[in-house]
Amino acid sequence: MHSRTASCSCGQLTIEVHGEPRGVGVCHCLACQRRTGSVFAALAGFAPPYKVSGAATEYVRVGDRGAKFTFRFCPVCGTSVFHTEEGYEDRYVSVAVGAFADPTFPPPEDSVYDSRRHPWVQLPPGITRYETDPD
Ligand SMILES: [Zn+2]
Ligand SMILES: [Zn+2]
Repeated sequence: MHSRTASCSCGQLTIEVHGEPRGVGVCHCLACQRRTGSVFAALAGFAPPYKVSGAATEYVRVGDRGAKFTFRFCPVCGTSVFHTEEGYEDRYVSVAVGAFADPTFPPPEDSVYDSRRHPWVQLPPGITRYETDPD
């Protein structure tokens, strides 16, 4: 099966995933803007199994609807690489698309928290927009 490896900036924290993403999305929420330092987050969900190498620091954030997300970032360089959602760890892992450093990565299908999108950010035609969190 096709595999891809996402890596932090310094290279010590990596995650290898297999197969095609189950979904690719961008999130414009203010929490994602802060946690990434960018104006939106781009995430791809992959089904297990996946393989993590290196040390990760965990940060748990509770979403607007009570979901608990555990973000993993590199303690050396600070790059956010992936996160899981409590109760769904065995179903998918969400990987930061930028950590693949692959401009041919599939484009997003969903735009979440479109109400917080910086107006200059243009999205691909046909993308599904959600004003806030869809679930
Ligand atoms: Zn690093
Ligand atoms: Zn978000």
